[in-house]
Amino acid sequence: MRAQPVASHYIDGAYVEDASGALIECVYPATGEIVARLHSATPALIERAVASAKRAQVEWERTLPADRGRILRRAADIMRDRNHDLSVLETLDTGKPYQETIVADALSGAEAFEFYGGIASTINGECIPLGDSFVYTKRIALGVCLGIGAWNYPTQIAAYKGAAALACGNAVVFKPSEVTPLCALKVAEILTEAGLPKGLYNVVQGYGEVGSTLVAHPDIEKVSLTGSVQTGARVMAAAGADIKHVTMELGGKSPLIVFDDADLDAAVSGAILANFYSAGQICSNGTRVFVHRNIRAEFETRLVERVRAIRLGDPLDPETQMGPLISQAHMERVLSYMQLGREEGARLLCGGGRAKGDGLARGAYVLPTVFTGVTDDMRIAREEIFGPVLSILEFSTEDEVIARANDTDLGLAASVFTRDLQRAHRVIDRIHAGTCWINTHNIMPVEMPFGGVKKSGVGRENSRAALDHYSQIKSVYVEMGGVQAPY
Ligand code: NDP
Repeated sequence: MRAQPVASHYIDGAYVEDASGALIECVYPATGEIVARLHSATPALIERAVASAKRAQVEWERTLPADRGRILRRAADIMRDRNHDLSVLETLDTGKPYQETIVADALSGAEAFEFYGGIASTINGECIPLGDSFVYTKRIALGVCLGIGAWNYPTQIAAYKGAAALACGNAVVFKPSEVTPLCALKVAEILTEAGLPKGLYNVVQGYGEVGSTLVAHPDIEKVSLTGSVQTGARVMAAAGADIKHVTMELGGKSPLIVFDDADLDAAVSGAILANFYSAGQICSNGTRVFVHRNIRAEFETRLVERVRAIRLGDPLDPETQMGPLISQAHMERVLSYMQLGREEGARLLCGGGRAKGDGLARGAYVLPTVFTGVTDDMRIAREEIFGPVLSILEFSTEDEVIARANDTDLGLAASVFTRDLQRAHRVIDRIHAGTCWINTHNIMPVEMPFGGVKKSGVGRENSRAALDHYSQIKSVYVEMGGVQAPY
């Protein structure tokens, strides 16, 4: 098997196997080939992982922040050195093309370790003078943090959650999606190699019930989930029952707004990035593309010409621009939305079905798809499809497009394309979304806080903002005078 790991889990600084756990077959979605077989964690292994994390965290929290940071930065260097191998593994795990993984996955994970390694020693409290007396605050660790990952960015999600948590002095138990179990193991292995004491970053595999057992575990202090809104609601309710901290990075149905003064080619590029990268399997995608009616026809012509030219194929071929979807089951779901779009009366401009061609039939390939004439009430404009399906909606006025863009219970991301500086800021200011762009889409440097409002989530990942979500404040009042009691 092409990507068989040493063992299924990584606990207390070493690979661990227990073949009595349910079988997890890791399928390469480009061919249907099984590239690895792993096992779900048994209750005994879950206990071992949490116990080792709890043990290790006590000393880690007392380790000098600069020393913690140095280890994380070393992990960043190792990830960069192994970018090729990690990218091939990410491609085998997800089906995303190597052309993308070589620039997007291990490298963004490395950026996170470098960034949090760099700021670990700046996690300070404050001093609040109160006459002679004063209060000082410290940012203290939470304890053992649970990360639960979606399948679209398995290396990046494992690194983002790990880097911020470890910088703050926490230990981590990470559960990847069972669809993409391979990459987080490499992150764990690299952290050990970089000098991270054993037990601080554990990976346990499993289906949803392993995740729910971990969420309910009394020694888990925080849960950070990247996943769907439905899973988020369940996980947040379970965490809430024990008053645990949560970060929820959930789904979206984000607007991308193109005004008639926009640089049209840049807007088309933005719309492409916002819908077809990773075969459209990105939570922050701008899938509702609102285009001003004066330029809609021209926008469509330029967009469709470029979308038709997207090269589908073997994800390991560096020339391939778009790979398959994550699985056959997900493909069926995306195809059903393509069918639904037609039934709802949207006009198909390109794509709309499975991709046929050399070797594609074995994989979960669909064509990059553009619908126009989409209206706000259509399900393709309301529900997250999580595939390469772009919907064009025409608009006339600024107030109208803002109201329509906000008419959703999701609020992960938004973007606006215009040359009018004042309009750009005015419109973005009125859009209900956590992560926004002006004249681009889906650019996410680690320095930028990332997360959603409304049902798209709670908390922020990346940037200094994530430190607030992986630590808590301890306040200490220091009395410099006498103490007077009233009785
Ligand atoms: P899911 O919500 O199906 O699963 C996410 C993770 O949660 C998986 O590891 C899953 O395990 C686990 N899980 C499922 N049920 C439970 C439970 N009851 N308790 C604990 N853990 C559980 O999402 P997908 O993996 O299908 O990913 C796609 C979704 O993720 C999309 O909606 C997308 O928008 C969202 N997403 C959000 C991002 C963001 O940052 N906002 C980024 C990327 C994706 P298992 O797979 O084993 O069932």
